Amino acid sequence: MFQGIFIDAFENDKKLADMMSTSGRHGLRVNFQKPAELMKLAGQILNSQPDLLALDYRLDNEHKYASYQASPLAQQLRESVLQSVTHDFPIILISSQEDIHAFFDNITAHNLFDRYFTKSDLTNGSASNQQILSLVKGYKQLIKHWNKPDSWSKFLAVTGREKIQVAYQAIRELDKLKAPHQVAHAILRYVIDRRGLLLDHDNVLTRLGISKSGKDVEAIFDLLHRDKIEYAGIFSEGWPRWWTHRLVDWQESLCGRAWGKLDTAEQRVSCFNRKLGLKLSPAKSRWPDTEGLIWYVCDSCHQPTEFNYSVIAHEALPYRFLHPKRICWKCVETGEYKEQGLETDDGEELIVDKIQNGEIRSGT
Ligand SMILES: [Zn+2]
Repeated sequence: MFQGIFIDAFENDKKLADMMSTSGRHGLRVNFQKPAELMKLAGQILNSQPDLLALDYRLDNEHKYASYQASPLAQQLRESVLQSVTHDFPIILISSQEDIHAFFDNITAHNLFDRYFTKSDLTNGSASNQQILSLVKGYKQLIKHWNKPDSWSKFLAVTGREKIQVAYQAIRELDKLKAPHQVAHAILRYVIDRRGLLLDHDNVLTRLGISKSGKDVEAIFDLLHRDKIEYAGIFSEGWPRWWTHRLVDWQESLCGRAWGKLDTAEQRVSCFNRKLGLKLSPAKSRWPDTEGLIWYVCDSCHQPTEFNYSVIAHEALPYRFLHPKRICWKCVETGEYKEQGLETDDGEELIVDKIQNGEIRSGT
């Protein structure tokens, strides 16, 4: 069983340690601990070689010690494990909703923690639980394959011919990073969290043109499971994903040709219904009177959208395999994308202006 430590100044939060734990032989037992002086605490943690560390954002211990936040402690630990990568472990941040804002304003902290969870995420159950355990197991895989040739392919669980499809330079360069936590961050941020090499549940449906609220959605995922389209690399237990290239091949072998951005959701769904005997419904865009060429999930409202009725969100993307985020016209019209922290790309200015000044309207 894996062992984790949760550090929080408030005795009341002790119960959160149990909520992060998972039973079973390959489960995780998280023990509660109160903060101590920073260097002393860092030493204690490193000596106990935990499989996971969870930190409350504020580690002030009723003013007994100089109050400090989780970041300097995490920084100290991250630097120490560079000397002994086999002892690297995930560090997660647990905080209240208010502290999450402080965390987001603190840019350097983003690279120190594998994930953050709010206290209500933990109280609400099993997804965060699975994710925490998945981080622990993912680190064990990273350590196990550390310094092996092409270790990136072992992290992502691809072999043979498939390796060539995934071997982007940036992916191969994972092997040059200096510690498991650096690889973990890159994989979480650029592979798991993004549409690109992998697709999440909603993006799989959208790519296939299938409505999320229609019938037989579960049946299609059962088939994707049977045909091994799923990603089985590190962190897959916590964040279910599907390989884009496998999905494209699967659809092509079923329907005779690969669908593109010019095939309607109706066409795609009718092939699946005919070949698989299902009753799937086509996905629909929020923008009325479109041709139904659904292709993306809007990164603002998470509803299906088309290439032609969405704009690119501005971002500096470090890798070529990443797909830019997209904002559907409806979200441009309502302005709701701003609440999601998204910005439209300057290259889309003309169309964005037209939507926002009412020259182009959705009419609803
Ligand atoms: Zn949208």
